[in-house]
Amino acid sequence: LSYRIENISTKDEIGDLAASFNKMLDRLEQSFIYQKSFAANAAHELKTPLATIKAGIQVLKLDNAPTIEDYEENIEVTEQSTERLIHVVNDLLTLAYKQTEKFSDNIELKNLFETISQELQPLCLEKTTTIYLDICEETIIGNQTLIYRVFYNLIENALKYNMNNGIVKVIGRPQNKFIHISISDTGIGIPKEAIPYIFEPFFRVDQSRARKLGGTGLGLSIVRTIIEKHKGTISVKSTVNVGTTFEVKLPKT
Ligand code: ADP
Repeated sequence: LSYRIENISTKDEIGDLAASFNKMLDRLEQSFIYQKSFAANAAHELKTPLATIKAGIQVLKLDNAPTIEDYEENIEVTEQSTERLIHVVNDLLTLAYKQTEKFSDNIELKNLFETISQELQPLCLEKTTTIYLDICEETIIGNQTLIYRVFYNLIENALKYNMNNGIVKVIGRPQNKFIHISISDTGIGIPKEAIPYIFEPFFRVDQSRARKLGGTGLGLSIVRTIIEKHKGTISVKSTVNVGTTFEVKLPKT
């Protein structure tokens, strides 16, 4: 940025002040770059299904005598693309969630995980994968809808990126002032070089595979944002072709 203060060599308060000012500008610049790339990625995610819808309409318009099958096929593709658009928009809205959200629900984790596990049974059947739950009785204070979203995303990923006949293990244990929740899978794993980027919006290890599986690439950044809002942390350990473990720490009630 052209506002940087250059050629300050004094080792006194003025030098310190100039250095802090420059550091602030650097952070501001990084934030602009981040916002720009976020907007470009979001636009790309929206553009792809829109282009599919438009192409379908044009094919019908150019066809002199479209058959009922042509229309049916077109409606099917349009419906899928519309669903995709709704999914991306909903994820973007969650990421930009309202500051007025309440964080005062008493959340029973055991119940929460049982509900998520039931909701995900169709995906378990599809992947012939089993979810094992071993969750302590302790509760946490927070926003029930957002915390549900966190663990739904993590368990859904653990199933989506699993092998057939795989296992997903969820363990919740109290430790000091926190509850530690680990979600382990026996899946494809995440390459070491991808780990530092895994929580960045729109990052996917394998773009085409992840898109085919229906993901927007926003899941883990939503997860991290929500956990940080609850004063918790999330970390990941993974070995390619062996599996991945996400560990979440959230303050106990
Ligand atoms: P997506 O919507 O693509 O699943 P996420 O933000 O949830 O986006 O995850 C980002 C990427 O991290 C995924 O595309 C996938 O490559 C990788 N990933 C996430 N969870 C797992 C997992 N449990 N096992 C292997 N890879 C994973």
